[in-house]
Amino acid sequence: MNGPTPRLEIFADRIHDNARAIVHQCADHGIQVAAVTKVLHAHPALLRALDDTGITMLADSRLQNLRRIAETGTSLPTLLLRAPGRHDIDAAVQLADISLNSSLITMTALSDAAVRAGTRHGVIIMVDVGDLREGVWPDHLVEVVSAAAKLPGIDVRGVGTNLACYGGVQPSAENMTRLVQLRDLAREATGLELGLISGGNSANLPLMMSGDMPSEINNLRIGEAIILGRNTLDRSPWPGTCQDTIQVVSEIIELERKPSIPLGRTGEDAFGQHVTFTDRGVRLRAICNLGRQDVNPSGLTPIDPGHIVLGASSDHLIVDVTDSGSPVEIGTEVRFRPTYAGLLATATSSAVWKEAATPHRL
Ligand SMILES: *Cc1c(COP(=O)(O)O)cnc(C)c1O
Repeated sequence: MNGPTPRLEIFADRIHDNARAIVHQCADHGIQVAAVTKVLHAHPALLRALDDTGITMLADSRLQNLRRIAETGTSLPTLLLRAPGRHDIDAAVQLADISLNSSLITMTALSDAAVRAGTRHGVIIMVDVGDLREGVWPDHLVEVVSAAAKLPGIDVRGVGTNLACYGGVQPSAENMTRLVQLRDLAREATGLELGLISGGNSANLPLMMSGDMPSEINNLRIGEAIILGRNTLDRSPWPGTCQDTIQVVSEIIELERKPSIPLGRTGEDAFGQHVTFTDRGVRLRAICNLGRQDVNPSGLTPIDPGHIVLGASSDHLIVDVTDSGSPVEIGTEVRFRPTYAGLLATATSSAVWKEAATPHRL
């Protein structure tokens, strides 16, 4: 028996196979995989799917999710992907073995917290090689690494970078080589090994497969390619992976034939937009129990090619089902494949039920 709607169905066995495939591909290039769980809110079904896949770390940007990972139980090291805020320092040391950092003020606070807790905290120092999101600007990396190395509670494990997220800059042999050279400079200046070089996210996989990734890059942090099986540079299917890994399921709560153009004088909709409409004549329209509170409708692709998402208000998703491939009535479930953004939203909505679609093979 399936759970209530709206719900997310997680095909854990397919995600398991995706993770194994990507770990294999990376191993062939001397790269270890930190699996990134944030887009599924570190759901236990995902964590189980990642068991026995060869990943070497569990990574997430949110402490709430790292807490979930701790509660589910893991023997793998954990990596915090976003620098912690002032109020999160102690939790970061408690929940993450390593964190990505760029600010000395934060690393000093992490060091103090680690000393208080009688432990040590690992850091990967992020360098900005062009995407203009996080990372120390290269001209003062050596200074930051040298200062961090002197902190009593901190182990500087290596350097990292992140690309293709804000500026859309693609990973290249040039920017990866720059990262390696910067590591070498910092290594010379400090005498530290700085053995971990974390080159980026799913967007680095095409460069790796082309054979142009410098051999010193030995870690990638991979979320979307494992969970949705996509090449994040163009959203094409990633070789060796399955894309049908997650489905968003809603159910029809109203079914009526109506014209496709609203009647009367129109003004702003509920979200301050002036919407234009295409006249397709009278159509069979289903209202599904999903809305913008759960997901932006642009993040949903109907699985039935005969369904068209017309729009959504906070709680009502309107789907043209005139050409539905199977019969529809009140209560019929309507399924969608989520984009990355659609998955992030539905996975973090407390109004959406989540379940493993198939038992994880043991
Ligand atoms: C989210 C995130 C990743 C994973 O990105 P994907 O595109 O899902 O592979 C890697 N690194 C950092 C710092 C992130 O925030």
